[in-house]
Amino acid sequence: ERERYRDRTPNSERLADSLRSFVPAGVCSTYRAYEPYPIHADRAEGATLYDIDGESYLDFALNNGTQLVGHAHPRLSEAAKVQIDQGTLYTRPSELLEFAARPLIDRWEAIERVRFTNSGTESVMHATRLARAYTGREKIVRMEGAYHGAHDPGLVSKMPPVDRAGPADDPRPVKESQGVPDGVPENMLLAQYNDAESVERLLREHGSEIAGILVEPACLNLGLVEPEGDFLFRLRELADEYDVVLIFDEVKTGVKLAPGGGAEYYGVQPDLVALAKAIGGGYPVGAFGGRRELMSLIADDLEDETASGAAHYGTYNGNPLALRAVGVTLGEILTTEAYDHVTTLAERLADGYRDVIDDAGLEGHVVTAGSQGMVYFTDKRIRTFRDWGAIDEEFHEAYWLGMVNRNVLPHPHDASQQWTVSVQHTAADIDTHVTAFADLASDLAA
Ligand code: PMP
Repeated sequence: ERERYRDRTPNSERLADSLRSFVPAGVCSTYRAYEPYPIHADRAEGATLYDIDGESYLDFALNNGTQLVGHAHPRLSEAAKVQIDQGTLYTRPSELLEFAARPLIDRWEAIERVRFTNSGTESVMHATRLARAYTGREKIVRMEGAYHGAHDPGLVSKMPPVDRAGPADDPRPVKESQGVPDGVPENMLLAQYNDAESVERLLREHGSEIAGILVEPACLNLGLVEPEGDFLFRLRELADEYDVVLIFDEVKTGVKLAPGGGAEYYGVQPDLVALAKAIGGGYPVGAFGGRRELMSLIADDLEDETASGAAHYGTYNGNPLALRAVGVTLGEILTTEAYDHVTTLAERLADGYRDVIDDAGLEGHVVTAGSQGMVYFTDKRIRTFRDWGAIDEEFHEAYWLGMVNRNVLPHPHDASQQWTVSVQHTAADIDTHVTAFADLASDLAA
């Protein structure tokens, strides 16, 4: 499949070679580089991505799931054009702040107040800083193998080499970048996703030093790993018992599992929520919000005289283009009908995969939640990062390249990610995706 990929995309290969000489790896986010080279985009519309070799792809990768509204949604493009003519930056508040903030407050019970940022990284960084400010403690409990952004603490044990990570019940924090100061891993305590006991152990031993528990409601850096049993409920109880802040990183789950993200989908409300990606429909924006008493700590909250100060600054924060995108995306595009549409199609896709896997006699299973889904080519259920070893990454790559060669981008390029069904996908698109998989499945089975 690699040779076929090369034959189909000579312009991408040439541009990759050229870009690599002056842009490290030829990309602006290192995850985007993969072997033999990425497909280079020409344009994207609706459910389709077009490349510079004249190929088109039915797109379920959708910019790491950002495009729940699909590409270049006409309503969003129209609103952006209006805003461009009215100015793209004011560095002062406007009515658009209310237009964007209201739907977030309406969707999350936990969000009583909210601030906007420019990315998921910033949202998580500010939420965790706020938890530290609120508790006066420094340590954060996080799950091994989860991704929480590119700031220093986010690069500790996001997907560490297992041979350096210590035993599963006592994982060692691993820096996954040079340049992260030694003090950073010291303040990250590692638990295992889906193992509330591992969180409780850390709280029992270090409770007086722990500011918060940081968790994705469903782990979307391991494909699609859902919380099992009472995992999230136990985290809520433990946070209350030990008086620590429960932070949901909903950068990927937010507005995609349900209108109110993983908190609504799984019925557990955190104290703080970090958001980005799908809330802006493809425009660069993030947000963090939560309980009034926490958010009021942000220093320049003029209403609260007791505010003692957790900084939040940024020139582009809450810029009018991003705010308009959030308001239109949440208020006008992601309606109840839109959620019915994506959920129905995501189930159709998952069922299609299951049938093909059965018919072809492949080993594998499919997980789906809201607009999200993932195929794992193993019968072993993936519950934690340590289960990841069950995935045959070479086999998954063959599947992925095989799908791309059949003009479907099933999800971003490796098994750490998942597919997203957008409001602009149709039932026919789902069937095309399943047909492409059926065509490939016999090769894979062989
Ligand atoms: N948290 C999670 C759960 C993410 O998946 C990501 C990005 N994939 C981030 C944070 C960081 O977001 P961004 O890339 O917008 O900085």
